[in-house]
Amino acid sequence: MDKVKIGVIGGSGLYELIENPEYMVLKTPFGETPRIEVGHVKGRKVAFLPRHGKPGVKKKVGHAVPPFKINFKANVYGLRMLGVERIIATNACGSLNMKINPGDIVLPDQFIDFTKLRETTFFDGETAVSIWRDKPPIKTVAHVDFTDPYCPELRKLIFEACVSLGLKCHVQGTYVCTEGPRFETPAEIKMFRVLGGDVVGMTSIPEAVLARELTMCYASVSVSTNWAAGISKEKITHEEVVDLFSKRITQVREIIKRAILAIPKERRCRCKDALKGALPR
Ligand SMILES: [Zn+2]
Repeated sequence: MDKVKIGVIGGSGLYELIENPEYMVLKTPFGETPRIEVGHVKGRKVAFLPRHGKPGVKKKVGHAVPPFKINFKANVYGLRMLGVERIIATNACGSLNMKINPGDIVLPDQFIDFTKLRETTFFDGETAVSIWRDKPPIKTVAHVDFTDPYCPELRKLIFEACVSLGLKCHVQGTYVCTEGPRFETPAEIKMFRVLGGDVVGMTSIPEAVLARELTMCYASVSVSTNWAAGISKEKITHEEVVDLFSKRITQVREIIKRAILAIPKERRCRCKDALKGALPR
């Protein structure tokens, strides 16, 4: 099979992204992936992975796995096995920044990790990890640089896609990732604001981290679906989040399509060199 160099990770509204998809479940050293769709987006080969899909199941399953149980390692590794070099992810988030209204699109450029129970590295010193097709797998410990946690090149392309569609988009934002599945308390949100957080969600970490460890580019199209707890007096409901996200999903799909078409063949960012200087000598 031809290499698939572009991957998209997201939820149910993106199932219609890929033209004439082939379906596959991949076995990785970390477990099975959910059903991945591989096909084309206007001539470019793309793989779509439903983040909350049930691992190992070759039929379409909706929001089956809660954030804290997602096998992020199998998901990200599976895409790399296909040859993916760049990942565009989508997710819903709550806003704690008065300038980011519900309905706005945010392209995070930084994150703060408040997850607790997740495995956030491929490099445990025990598992052989295959990153490059022309080199043997590596079994090591690594400390990867995260000065630019989200790929600047991909973020720029996504921003340009938003502008070309006339959509309001925040080109920067600090994404606070919580463990979930409960929403945050007002006290936690107050703390996140003091720390410099702009939006809060449950899925970007460790996805962004694992992608970088495998030298992939990763950027996220985050949709602000609600005010975080305490910012508004209203109670937060999952229903409201899903509702607003699905209202935006057609736009998100269009943004992703345009960004994919604009992706240049060669990567000019530093993501591909993520392991240079990160491995023990
Ligand atoms: Zn990059």
